[in-house]
This record gives sequence, structure tokens and C-alpha cells, in this order.
Amino acid sequence: MTQHLIDNLGPAALPFEICSAEGPLLWDTRGRSYWDFYGGHAVTLLGQGHPRWIEALAQQARQLSFFTTLGPTPVRSRAAAKLCGFTGMDQVFFVNSGAEANEAALKMARKATGRSVVIAMENGFHGRTMGALGATWKYREQHALPHGDTRFVPFGDLDALKAALGDDVAAVITEPIQGIAGIVEPPAGWLENVAQLTRDAGALLIVDEVQSGMGRMGVPLASDLVGVRGDIVTVGKGLGAGFPVAACLVTTAVAETVSPGEHGTTFGGAPLACAAVEATLDIIEDEQLMDQATGVGEALRETLTSLPGVVSVRGQGAWIGVVLDRSAKPIQQALMEAGYLVGTAGDPHVLRLAPPAAMPLWVCRHLGAAIDQALSGAVSAVA
Ligand code: PLP
Repeated sequence: MTQHLIDNLGPAALPFEICSAEGPLLWDTRGRSYWDFYGGHAVTLLGQGHPRWIEALAQQARQLSFFTTLGPTPVRSRAAAKLCGFTGMDQVFFVNSGAEANEAALKMARKATGRSVVIAMENGFHGRTMGALGATWKYREQHALPHGDTRFVPFGDLDALKAALGDDVAAVITEPIQGIAGIVEPPAGWLENVAQLTRDAGALLIVDEVQSGMGRMGVPLASDLVGVRGDIVTVGKGLGAGFPVAACLVTTAVAETVSPGEHGTTFGGAPLACAAVEATLDIIEDEQLMDQATGVGEALRETLTSLPGVVSVRGQGAWIGVVLDRSAKPIQQALMEAGYLVGTAGDPHVLRLAPPAAMPLWVCRHLGAAIDQALSGAVSAVA
């Protein structure tokens, strides 16, 4: 590991260097293998090195590796049409990261409504650029949203939302299910009511699907599970299956408020990124990866739900939060030593799983056995 990299993670950094991978398997520089139940931060729904994804990128690189985003390209038009078809949204602005997609979303909502206040959720996460940080609970004190206010309300609390809504509110931004917080699901009916209340107040609903979206939950977007469509929807992570690309998707009504020059980025929507998006969507559809993700989720639930030490299993598809009766960190460590990579979450009792959709079901069962062993092993139960 190099001394020339800023240590932005501290003790959260993984204690090995991954140097190669295939499908759901990773190898480190010592030759040790790991089943990837973390999915590179919920990115690699396709697994590593999918041959069609590689070929699409190689072919695009040969044909047109880069062109200024000032000009249209066929691959960007195709990727936009495909992504709008997949998500049910009307128009898209491609960017480079989830945080940047949320920056665009916040800007567009303020422009479209002529208002400045944003309502965001306690324990929500929207990224680490300045505007996105302003709507992110954990960092709200270091970084207030520039040019306006954020009002935070508890996730799942409709009364608090009603009290916070007013004619100065441009947007309500929320994850449909909170990812970094620990795959936290709101009460039944909550998102549907949020959509209604937000629109009644003349504000826009921004649904941040950066982690929950792109087929991971067995449906294109997590908000599909409750039949809600945001006025603005942001996606990233799995969108390019590892190629850095994200998107801010909007209704036609929002798109019509965008003026020339207001949004722009050198790399957003560039040919390679769009080839990655197109290939990712083709593969999700052709290989029925959403059905496969559903199967993985069911296998994980089945093997994990009744384990002593597991309090509950949250989420579905290839996005599962395992709530333990003790700190998740030592269990994550024990699993790493047993050859399984899993994530942790803001809630220190939660293991966060975001495996590729094609994770073999027998490996899901083996992970269950490994978690059982770790829970009954040297690690003692502390509430
Ligand atoms: N929104 C959500 C819900 C996320 O989980 C994340 C990242 O974890 C982001 C936004 C930020 O995405 P990025 O890290 O690509 O900027």
C-alpha cells in the first residue's frame, strides 16, 4: 500500500489489496480469494469483468473514445433512451458520480420551483460534494447547504414532514430505503404519502436511488416497490457496472425549466460511460438479472433469518441488511478471514450485503454458515 495516498478512511480501510477478480470472486495480492458480498459498494450487480460489458467498452474505445459533450453522439442518445425506458422517467442528464447527480437534482429543483429550502431525512446519505453534503445528515454541521437551508426530519415521520413543508420548500430529497444507514425501510405507505404531501406543497420529490436502484432490489428502482415515481430520480453505482457514471433523471416538466449552460460536465455522458450504461442495461434485461437478484435475496433471507444472533433481515434482492444483536465490525472481520467480503453500515449492528446478482445460491448458504460460525465463535454478544 502506498504512502502517497491521503488516508481518507483510517481504520475503515480494508486490510488487503485486491488485484484481480472474476464474476463474484475477488483475489488479493497475497493470492487469497473472497466471495464479494459487498459488490464494490453496491456497484457490481453484473459481477466483475462481464464479457459483454468488456466488449462494449472495447468496441466504443476503438470507434470513438471521447468527444466533447457539447455535441450529441449516437451512443449517448441510445443510453438515454434505454435508461428512461428502464426507469420510466422522461429525460436524463448524465454525470460522473452519485453526489454529482444529487447536486444537479438540487439545482434543478430550486430552479424549477423558484424556492430554496430542501427537506432531507435524518440519517440519509446523498454524497460528499458540498450541496449533497448539505442534505446529508452525518455531515450537516460541517457543511451547510450553500445558498439556502436544509430542514431535516426523521425518516418515516409524516407529521414532522408536514410541519417542515411550507411555500419556501423547493424539494424533499430522500432515499426510498436508507442504504448507508443500514438498509432501513420506512413504515408502509410512507413514500406514497411523502410524494402526495410534497406535491400538495408545490415542491418536487427527489428520490435518491443511487444505491437502491438499477435492478438491485429485483425491480428497476426501489420506489417501484410502492408505485412511486419521483419528479427527479438520481441513479449511479450499478448504472455503469464499475465505469464511473451516474444520472439525474427528470420529468418533462422539470426538464423544460433547464436553461442552456446551467448544467454541464466535461466527462458526463461521454462515449465510454454511455457504452457502459447501454451494455449494463442490455445485460440486466437479457440475463434476467433482476430475477436472479430476487433469488439471491430469498436465499440469503432463508439462511440468515433464523440464526441465533440475527435480530432481523432487512431489504430484498441483492441488497440485504443483517441486523445483529452485537457489533457488526468483528463479524465482518471474521468473515473476511473466512473468505467473504461484506459491508457494515451507519448502524453499527448491521452487516450490509450487496452481492452481484449471479452470486451462486450455494455460496449464499455458505455465507449463512460462516455468519453462524462467527456469531457463535470467539465474538461475544454485547448489545
Ligand atoms: N446517494 C446515495 C444513496 C449513496 O449511497 C451514495 C454513495 O454511497 C451517494 C449518493 C453518493 O454517490 P457517489 O459516491 O457516487 O458520489
